[in-house]
Order: sequence, then structure tokens, then C-alpha cells
Amino acid sequence: MKDNCNREIKHIRFSVTSNCNYNCIYCDREGFIPKTTELSVDEITQLCRILAQVLKVTKIKFTGGEPLLREEIVEIIRNVSDLQLYKDISMTTNGVYLFEKAQDLFDAGLNRINVSLGTLKPDIYKKIYGSDSLEIVLKGLQKAKKVGLIPIKLNYVVLKGINDQEINDLVNFCAENEFILQLIELHKVPRSISQDNAFYDKYYFDVMPLIEEFERKATNIEVRGNMQNRKVFTLPNSAKVETITPGHEFCMGCTKIRVGCDGNLFGCLFRSELGTNVKEALKNNHSLSMYEKIVKQVVDTREPYY
Ligand code: SAM
Repeated sequence: MKDNCNREIKHIRFSVTSNCNYNCIYCDREGFIPKTTELSVDEITQLCRILAQVLKVTKIKFTGGEPLLREEIVEIIRNVSDLQLYKDISMTTNGVYLFEKAQDLFDAGLNRINVSLGTLKPDIYKKIYGSDSLEIVLKGLQKAKKVGLIPIKLNYVVLKGINDQEINDLVNFCAENEFILQLIELHKVPRSISQDNAFYDKYYFDVMPLIEEFERKATNIEVRGNMQNRKVFTLPNSAKVETITPGHEFCMGCTKIRVGCDGNLFGCLFRSELGTNVKEALKNNHSLSMYEKIVKQVVDTREPYY
């Protein structure tokens, strides 16, 4: 299905809970604050089936809050995998419960993970994420790799004066462990969550000079056209670095639809207020053509540059 700007929807970002055990200083809360209770496991499975059929997508990423805090997360992954409609099931997590759950998640059908990791220093980790869990996250990463949740990507949101000096350490860490570093430029937190840009103004770090340096050094550069035109650089030490910068290119290449944990379906991280809540609709056994109308309406709320 395409939006009004001819951008095809190719994947789904699905929040399974808004609960979180972290307090990340930059958190965008995935663009929304839930208005009703969480979808049940059956509702999540049903909605994943409907969206795959209506949108003809085969890629889904589970997120939160912290998705591993959702008690039934393994069951959710298993149910969605059993639909046999998705070729790529991934998850974004802070990694605290990875060590404990990696094997079960893999066995249930999870293919790969992104882990929020923007520092290798415990004190900086505490400052960014409000948690002392760096060590267990690092153990979780090794476990995830061992069980086969690959490729593993590290989400590194660059913050001026906090972790902007760690780029080389993180690149080397990724090269050594065959992880992919996702270098993410801080974006403003969506309007639905905060009107205050003070944090952004203080910690925004322009990643453009880093990208230019990668461009000079890289042995290979790939552009992921389906993924917000992200560039993936292979560096001489074989590290792979993917760059995510908001702005025109980002929107132009956006192929995502989002689902909030309460069933709010929305088309843009920055415009969740334009979403439609489908929790009630799921109780009514609607036909697929009815869902097509609902989903099309949401997809058409997507604007060129929010
Ligand atoms: N709890 C999970 C985690 O920590 O990965 C999933 C939710 S978290 C909101 C998902 C990702 O959103 C983080 O890894 C981070 O990269 C990204 N994120 C959140 N707020 C952001 C911001 N203001 N700017 C850039 N990226 C942000």
C-alpha cells in the first residue's frame, strides 16, 4: 500500500508495552502515549495477521517501552512467527533481559535484535539510561549472538558532551564482535510528548562531519533506499556503521507504519495524534476490506515532512 506521496509501506513497528525499566534521557516514547489498556496477546496476533494481509508487508519490529518487560513476549513472537506471514521479525530492546530470554526468543521465531547501547563506560551508561546494567547488557549481547539473533545492531544515539567521544571505541567494539553500529542523530521528541526542546538544543550533536569522514574512509557504501535512505558504511577494520539522520532524506525514504501498545495505528513518529485506534474494531470481526479502509486512511495521514 502506498501513501499520498507514493511511499510504499514496507514494514511495521509494533509497541507491545509502554512499560519501561529505563529512564533514557532522550526518550521519544516511540512517538506516543497510550490512551487505553494494552492489546492482549490475541489482539496483537490478530492485528499482525491483518496488517500483513492488508499491507502485504513481511517485516515487523517489536518495540516498547521495553518489549522484554511484556510478560508474554515469547508467546507473542511465537504467535506472530506461526502466522508464517513475516520473513523478518526483529526487536529493539535495552538488552537487560536478553541474557535470560535470548534462547527462548530465538526458538520462538525472533530473527534479530537492535540493542540500545551508546557507551561502553558504566558511569556514562548510568547517565544516559538511568541504569547500572551495562555488564548484564554486554553479557546479553554475547548470548544473543551465540543463539543466532543476528545481525545484531547497536543503537548509538549521539549526545553532545556525553558520548560523542566514544565513536572510535564503539566502532572497534562492533568490528571485534561483528555487530553493526547504528549511529543515530538525536531527534526532537514528538509534539504529543513534549513541547520543550531545551534538551535537544543542549545535547544535539551534528553527525554530518562523522558521515563525511566515513565517506572518505569507507571501503564500501550502501544506501538502504527502503529504510529512510540510510547509508551503511563498511570501514577498513570491517566495522559496519549505519547512519540515521532525521530530515528530508529520512522522511522521503520512510516506509514504516507504527502500532502503539494500545492499538493506535499511526503513520509517523512525529504525528501519533493523526492515528486511529483499532482496539475496538478488533472485537468486531471486520472483513479484510473494512480493515483496508481503516489502514488506508491512516497511511494517507502521512505527510512529506511532518
Ligand atoms: N526500550 C527499547 C530500547 O531501549 O531500545 C525500545 C524503545 S526505544 C524508544 C527505541 C529506540 O528509540 C532507541 O534505541 C533509540 O535509538 C531511539 N530513540 C528514542 N528517543 C530518541 C531520540 N530522541 N532521538 C533519537 N533516537 C531516539
